[in-house]
Amino acid sequence: TNFESLGVSKPIVATLFQLGIEKPTPIQEKAIPLLLEGRDLIGLAQTGTGKTAAFGLPLIEKLIPEERRPDNRTTRTLILAPTRELVNQIAQNLKNFLRKSHLRINVVVGGVSINKQQLQLEKGTDILVATPGRLLDLVARRAIGLTAVRYLVLDEADQMLDLGFVHDLRKISKMVPKRRQTMLFSATMPKAIADLAADFLTDPVKVEV
Ligand code: AMP
Repeated sequence: TNFESLGVSKPIVATLFQLGIEKPTPIQEKAIPLLLEGRDLIGLAQTGTGKTAAFGLPLIEKLIPEERRPDNRTTRTLILAPTRELVNQIAQNLKNFLRKSHLRINVVVGGVSINKQQLQLEKGTDILVATPGRLLDLVARRAIGLTAVRYLVLDEADQMLDLGFVHDLRKISKMVPKRRQTMLFSATMPKAIADLAADFLTDPVKVEV
């Protein structure tokens, strides 16, 4: 199998080759076609399996042909992750895949100046990668709105629950539109994650690696 046969477009395949990414990993092989079809998805996968590309490549494929929204204070894509390190890692990975595209990635994490993040968001966002707490702070300041979110990713959902983000996640779920595509990734699937998935996802497919 190669990326093209999974439905990834030629320019992105070329970018992947330049990054030394030539053969899809198992999670990518399973998840990419389903996500391109628009399915909601639960991915049971650890870090290091290539899960960022598994959800990131379909997102980029969907976003690139879309018009840039004139409204700057909203984002179409929201990726939530438990820690600053993971958020930055996801954003860096996606930036590598984007290369010359017009898509704008922004990062929102706690522990750094919120005013700077607010100014950065004013320039506009296509893909927002965030920790839940700081995201809610910025929503409360009206620096970013979630009413245009059509793609939602919960990465390392088990860690987000362990870190006590469940309340924040439920708040965020009330702010995003019901009509959207949602992806949840977790290394484990305890009942709390299954409950979260039942709330956030619609008729999801489960893929395991
Ligand atoms: P992740 O599991 O998403 O944190 O990815 C781990 C690392 O593997 C990242 O540095 C990716 O750039 C890299 N990677 C992702 N997919 C592939 C692939 N199909 N082949 C080689 N490396 C990959």
